[in-house]
Amino acid sequence: MKICRFNHDRIGVVQEDDVYDVTDLFERQLHWPAPLGDAVIGQLEKVLDVVREKLPGIKPLKLSSVRLESPVANPGKIIGAPVNYHAHIEEANGDSEINNGKTFTTLEAYGLFLKANSSLIGTADEIQSAFGGRRTDHEVELAVVIGKKARHVPVEAALDYVAGYTIGLDMSVRGGETPCYRKSPDTYSVLGPWLVTRDEIPDPDNLDLSLHVNGEVRQQANTQLLILNVRRVIAYASALYTLHPGDVIMTGTPAGVGPVLPGDTIKAYVENIATFDIRVAPQFADQVEG
Ligand code: MN
Repeated sequence: MKICRFNHDRIGVVQEDDVYDVTDLFERQLHWPAPLGDAVIGQLEKVLDVVREKLPGIKPLKLSSVRLESPVANPGKIIGAPVNYHAHIEEANGDSEINNGKTFTTLEAYGLFLKANSSLIGTADEIQSAFGGRRTDHEVELAVVIGKKARHVPVEAALDYVAGYTIGLDMSVRGGETPCYRKSPDTYSVLGPWLVTRDEIPDPDNLDLSLHVNGEVRQQANTQLLILNVRRVIAYASALYTLHPGDVIMTGTPAGVGPVLPGDTIKAYVENIATFDIRVAPQFADQVEG
């Protein structure tokens, strides 16, 4: 099932050109302190059967008439996996603007990084280049959305903890600052257009993915080429962090990263999920030097 968030926090099921508003099937009462994790994603597994049952009674909206927001409203963490495709390691080591004097070897040598969840937008929004004129790159990635609390997950069981998959853009300013800083300005994390529940993607390690800028192909690969595959990257992350429902793991970008400029249009694709277009705003974000 394809689950979206739209028009100010409505929850929808996408079927072909239609969206069925199923918001009222979820419990959304306030608790304080709010438990860690995204409350809607945490209920997904339980609510999906009811959703299936009620769907025929709901009058759909046209997908083209709604404004899509990030399918996860409130991830506790957006976890990034750097250098998880060999060809991207090679290109990074060959480009001083990417490696900034470092030599990348393995993902484990580098670890994971966290992107601020305030950087998150959906596909109807615009990416706004920060850092004045510095180089902002696109990185298209398969994004895993965690469905239930996970800690020390064994590789073999890792997919049981997945709610579903979506397309991630891990927008990145190149430079010497920490990845947490360079990859976390507002709008630098894109998720969408919807989440595809894990039952529809039995093998996340064999999905084509691509990215075009202004119609020109920049990235084209398959998740078969991941160094740490989806199971292993979940196990690796959960060895360190307790994962909560709605936590997102961006699994890493394939080769072909490169700059985007104000006014560009990015087209991102992951097989069995979707294709979406997103625009880079025509102006740089206002920048006040700290
Ligand atoms: Mn990345």
